[in-house]
Amino acid sequence: MGSVRATKPHAVCVPFPAQGHVTPMMRLAMLIHSRGFHITFVNTEFNHRRLIRSKGLDYIKGLPDFQFKTIPDGLPPSDRDATQHVPSLMDATRKNCLAPFKELVLKLNSSSEVPLVTCIVSDGIMSFAIKAGEELGIPEVQFWTASACGFMGYLNFTELIKRGILPFKDESFKGDGTLDKAINWIPGMKNIRLKDLPSFMRITDITETMFDFMGSEAQNCLNSSTIIFNTFDEFEHEVLEVISAKFPHVYTIGPLHLLGRHVPESHFISQGSSLWKEDSKCLQWLDKREPNSVVYVNYGSITVMSDQHFKEFAWGLANSKHTFLWIIRPDVVMGDTAILPKEFFEETKDRGLLTSWCPQDKVLAHPSIGAFLTHCGWNSTLESVSAGVPIICWPFFAEQQTNCRYACTTWEIGVEVNEDVKRHEIEALVKEMMEGEKGKAMRQKAREWKKKAMEATDFEGSSYKNFERFIKEALLIGE
Ligand code: UDP
Repeated sequence: MGSVRATKPHAVCVPFPAQGHVTPMMRLAMLIHSRGFHITFVNTEFNHRRLIRSKGLDYIKGLPDFQFKTIPDGLPPSDRDATQHVPSLMDATRKNCLAPFKELVLKLNSSSEVPLVTCIVSDGIMSFAIKAGEELGIPEVQFWTASACGFMGYLNFTELIKRGILPFKDESFKGDGTLDKAINWIPGMKNIRLKDLPSFMRITDITETMFDFMGSEAQNCLNSSTIIFNTFDEFEHEVLEVISAKFPHVYTIGPLHLLGRHVPESHFISQGSSLWKEDSKCLQWLDKREPNSVVYVNYGSITVMSDQHFKEFAWGLANSKHTFLWIIRPDVVMGDTAILPKEFFEETKDRGLLTSWCPQDKVLAHPSIGAFLTHCGWNSTLESVSAGVPIICWPFFAEQQTNCRYACTTWEIGVEVNEDVKRHEIEALVKEMMEGEKGKAMRQKAREWKKKAMEATDFEGSSYKNFERFIKEALLIGE
């Protein structure tokens, strides 16, 4: 084994324990692996069990040079098939994960079975790994899995306090127009209102967990040697220029799933990293539909809504008369199971398919998809852009509000649904997107962005070249 130790670099990849982080980290890990690295992919015990349930034990065996390991998240044990309570996860990971993570890395380094750990690739909101890297003397890089515009929003949380905007005095800010105020003092961000900043800033107490956590984790990234973004230069160039001026070691290497097309396909890679069991039959259903004829509806892995909003979406889709594929996560309706009336099924039986989880990147890339009704999670946004599909935005939380604003203004690929969604609005927006002139213009724009995303990830493209540089400059230093 001595020769293995001497010859292979070894990256330990640690994502935040939620689907929107595990997926892009896995895509990055596969890319790094394709460059001859040994990979240790670290999930929480909770998500490891979920991966086994969704993919089977064989998947978790990995490959001889791609192994899965676990750390505890510190939360009470559970076997629910759902994302854990997000504020509790944030609190738990930052308080509990450093010690078990360090212990794991030390164990890897004392084993003769694997090469010595040469670098740590940590999620941008798992900054305990920066500390682990420092304490163990191992180079470490941060991977910010969300948008660069969202990152900039979080970096400015402290400025909101300095300027006396936060904390809000009381809850009246929600209805008195405060959030509509334009802000012009964030460099690199144009056409932004308070309500377009990450939603965690809507607080009356600055110790609120998600506000404090995301603001400080974004700042913590600046203490690392390197930050990687899953975006491409042309898409977010203004904000990226400002970030790079503040922090020079930034690598934009997205969209990662497009960059992944250069990695030789294998059974392991083609399985992805869904924590829910995927229903791939919906792809065959899509095969039978006309090009651009299907509205795809999916709110990602965390979004929840009231039963009333759920029904408004349902009737909006039904009344639009368009064909739709609607992914309904079992826990999407708050405190309830998602149940729809039989009249809805009667009305949509020839043109609606409902299922609980799908291989989204494949669905979006299917030629039948004409529009995407989305919560604007960053992965969903990028996957839609990469497929040239325009979006109908209903942001839920975090930087989804910022992504939505950029989609509807800067990128010109989206329209926004009112927070308090009503069926007639959904009906009108779906019709406009699928039949109207504005929809046509947005589809055209989305296709232009797709072309640019493809170019960025092509051999001479910016993301491709940045990935090459990232491997040499950040991961192979000293090799
Ligand atoms: N996803 C999927 N199947 C689904 C729903 C979501 O594969 O039915 C994937 C999706 O492709 C994306 C991720 O889950 O890569 C969700 O991440 P995103 O940032 O869009 O939203 P989040 O779930 O973090 O809110």
